[in-house]
Amino acid sequence: MLILLCNDDGIFAPGIVALYRELVGLGEVSVVAPASGQSAAAHSITITHPLIVERVHVANSFHGDAIEGSPADCVKLAVANLLPARPDLVVSGINNGENVGIHTLYSGTVAAAAEAAVLGFPSVAVSLERSPEMDFARAARLALRVIRRLLEIGIEPGQLFNVNIPALKPGWPRGVKVARQSVLPFEDKFICRKDPGGRNYYWLAGEFGDLSREHGTDLRAQRDGYITVVPLKFDLTDEQRLAAMQNWEWPAVDGAA
Ligand code: MN
Repeated sequence: MLILLCNDDGIFAPGIVALYRELVGLGEVSVVAPASGQSAAAHSITITHPLIVERVHVANSFHGDAIEGSPADCVKLAVANLLPARPDLVVSGINNGENVGIHTLYSGTVAAAAEAAVLGFPSVAVSLERSPEMDFARAARLALRVIRRLLEIGIEPGQLFNVNIPALKPGWPRGVKVARQSVLPFEDKFICRKDPGGRNYYWLAGEFGDLSREHGTDLRAQRDGYITVVPLKFDLTDEQRLAAMQNWEWPAVDGAA
């Protein structure tokens, strides 16, 4: 089995090294990842700059391709040019920080897996909730148990799973929960400071608001200490509205209009 491993924290990040060390138990692992941090890059791709590739040796563990580009760039280039064959599985992570709820939309970690799904590969994104003690080795062991289980059940080509591991407090994780993605908005708060020239600058802070009505979501389950597994899709069509819109009448529009 050939596995493509990517991330958004950069190829030298501890999360990707830890995940590599576990994934080699499943098969051959090729690492193609951004040369530096690309967190919150979402599904961006590079079209006005070249994608410089450098072969690097990381943490005495693996040789991989460091790309001066986004997570989605890495997956595209890996599949098109760099891998010896088509991957059987694409894994992204482990991200330093959770990617639950609407964070999913901004996440480069999820985007790498989503790009793989677009290209027709089974894919899994893995993130670890931020806490003072980031035990990526343990998180990777947990992630591998989930990935093994997904493979046992069978991931179809183009299917994407978003896996989040809660903060590894004593007694956590409390189990694995399948959940839906939360849509609770982030309550944006920009901290305002002055630069040396006296101009204002802003830095995004903020947090999720009231979670009391969150039930069955990844955000809720993660806050309760569970590993969450969310099946995602990249087709953004709203099926319900699409059906309702079939009867809409439109003004006559033709070539003469
Ligand atoms: Mn990241």
